[in-house]
Amino acid sequence: MGEIRDRVSEAIKKIRAVDPAYHSFVTVCEERASQAAEKLEREIQGLTQEEARRRYPLAGLVFAVKDNLCVEGVQTTAASHILENYISPYSATAVVRLEEAGAICVGKTNMDEFAMGQTTTTGAFGATKNPRYPELSAGGSSGGSAAAVALGLVDFALGSDTGGSIRQPAALCGVVGLKPAYGAVSRYGLISYASAFDVIGPLTRSVNEAQKIYSVIAGPDEQDASMREKVYFRPSAEEIERPHGRLRVGVLGGEDSAAAAILRKDPTFCENYEIRYIELPMLEYAVATYYILACAQAASNLARYDGVRYGFRAEGYETLDQMYEMTRVEGFSPEVQRRIRMGRFVLGQESYRDWYEQAARVRRCIYDQVQEALAEVDVIVSETLARPYPRADFAGDSEAFLNGYEQDKLTVLANLCGLPAINVPVEAMEDDAPSAVMVTANAGREAAMFEVAEQLAAPFTPCVKGGPVHE
Ligand code: GLN
Repeated sequence: MGEIRDRVSEAIKKIRAVDPAYHSFVTVCEERASQAAEKLEREIQGLTQEEARRRYPLAGLVFAVKDNLCVEGVQTTAASHILENYISPYSATAVVRLEEAGAICVGKTNMDEFAMGQTTTTGAFGATKNPRYPELSAGGSSGGSAAAVALGLVDFALGSDTGGSIRQPAALCGVVGLKPAYGAVSRYGLISYASAFDVIGPLTRSVNEAQKIYSVIAGPDEQDASMREKVYFRPSAEEIERPHGRLRVGVLGGEDSAAAAILRKDPTFCENYEIRYIELPMLEYAVATYYILACAQAASNLARYDGVRYGFRAEGYETLDQMYEMTRVEGFSPEVQRRIRMGRFVLGQESYRDWYEQAARVRRCIYDQVQEALAEVDVIVSETLARPYPRADFAGDSEAFLNGYEQDKLTVLANLCGLPAINVPVEAMEDDAPSAVMVTANAGREAAMFEVAEQLAAPFTPCVKGGPVHE
């Protein structure tokens, strides 16, 4: 057997041995992965080392894909009963690009149903355990992807981020999580939640790896009409020149904030960067604005699950209307139904002006305020998570969800404004709680974001003995 096949079978063996205790995977696609490995080995054989490296920059890296991203021939459920038996006939563009670059997909990861949530305890197929902080949830909704990377089961994983779903579980599991700028990565093949906020991104062990995976998946795609025309890949000449001298880092939350304390711990950081303290008073409205707009989009996106086209259909109906209704009541969890109802309410004829339109206006004010701040600083650094952190024993009822919404305060900002943002684990402040910061920049200033993130990131430590799958 060749080297790549060895790596793949070793990874799958490790997943089977370690993962049952954590449930970061919902599907392992062994057959498909070994075929891909074999094919790649055959293709590389005919190439010089130099050619192989250029043609397959990710050759043999093993990755996992959140279960709301389509992988051809593999079950894709978004952790919902309504898609339980759905086998995707095609792959998402991001997945295609990774596979073309030589990476091997070994399976699909667990999540909150339709990416609605922040604990990965609420999907139809059970909870994922946080491998690093067992009292806390793994975070969500890309908790399976974060746990799989933290456990060292894969080299990297893909997630999706609508309001924090990559960065927040990355923070809780102690890995790097990148939410690219809106429109930088094609959404083709991503099961939509809120199309104006959704973006696909990587969860990795280091900032460097995140940047590398990002550069493979980013860039225009005819299948997605909302792509940005200019997408960051490499630092621009202007960025290397640093028009303002030292990069200016805006700390959100003031001198007494946890983010400020984290930066102060590193004296060289404070010498190399100009630290400023910034305020964003509009942040107070971010959660309400996000949930109104996200639910409105979810209500229209989820209208397609009617029992006719995909997966699950209820039994025992008499009329067509009954079939729709019973399928949706049995197929969607109560939280997903609640969000659809909320979305329909804010879009209703009577309430549209007072709710949806207002929220759209407030979003604009938030955007303007963030842009004002980003005219004065190059990046914004804040904590990733608002406290209290979501716990492993998350009740999953409407009250628990409602309380959880507030915890998305810091992450939703980047989605409301379409900005790139990255979570990095930092040196621990307390032993039993995650320490992480988020670095946010303007679209087009990703080089500054990556540089500051790299400076702050603590080195990766795997959560289980034996370390990452490949070092
Ligand atoms: N927790 C947020 C929500 O439930 C964000 C989810 C996400 O980014 N997909 O909507």
